Amino acid sequence: MTRYAMVMDTRRCIGCHSCTVACRTWNELPTDMIYNPVLTDGPVGVYPNVHMNHMPLICMHCDNPACVGACPTGASQQDADGIVWVEDAKCIGCKACIQSCPYNARHMNHELGVAAKCNFCKDRVREGKEPHCVKTCHQRARIFGDLDDPNSDVSRLVNSLATVRLLEELDTDPQVYYIIGLGGQG
Ligand code: SF4
Ligand code: SF4
Repeated sequence: MTRYAMVMDTRRCIGCHSCTVACRTWNELPTDMIYNPVLTDGPVGVYPNVHMNHMPLICMHCDNPACVGACPTGASQQDADGIVWVEDAKCIGCKACIQSCPYNARHMNHELGVAAKCNFCKDRVREGKEPHCVKTCHQRARIFGDLDDPNSDVSRLVNSLATVRLLEELDTDPQVYYIIGLGGQG
């Protein structure tokens, strides 16, 4: 089987927002929509030991996705490889998925009248390419791959380093793993 996942190495992220811009351009998003924001905290510490923390966000491609269960039309779907996506033609814009997502990862595209989200660039992935945010991150802070392949970068990182997942207690089984550390230090 294939199980796609992403690792966010916050030790390496410098908060440049290249991933955010690349995603918006690739997906031709309206100006009021962002699929993958980067949150910044800081500066923290006492001079000269001062640093900034950056947290890249994205849809968690939950193994137990609340958005799919909440969708009344079947527009929100999960593929066998774990990718959660929206079939625009089936979406009636009821926003049930937006309300159900605990990660605030879904957004109304008012131009199209559909509830949209990151789909891990699934068209690119199935051509053997990386999601556009991963390709663009010059810091290698975003790492993507098959968690069921023991030789993939994501497997090696998840299996060898301490990682955390966001809101794990909600049983959504998020498939984005965070390596926590000082920003830009990797
Ligand atoms: S994840 Fe990469 S591209 Fe995105 S802000 Fe961090 S360093 Fe920049
Ligand atoms: S993060 Fe939200 S939109 Fe993404 S799969 Fe999970 S519940 Fe659905």
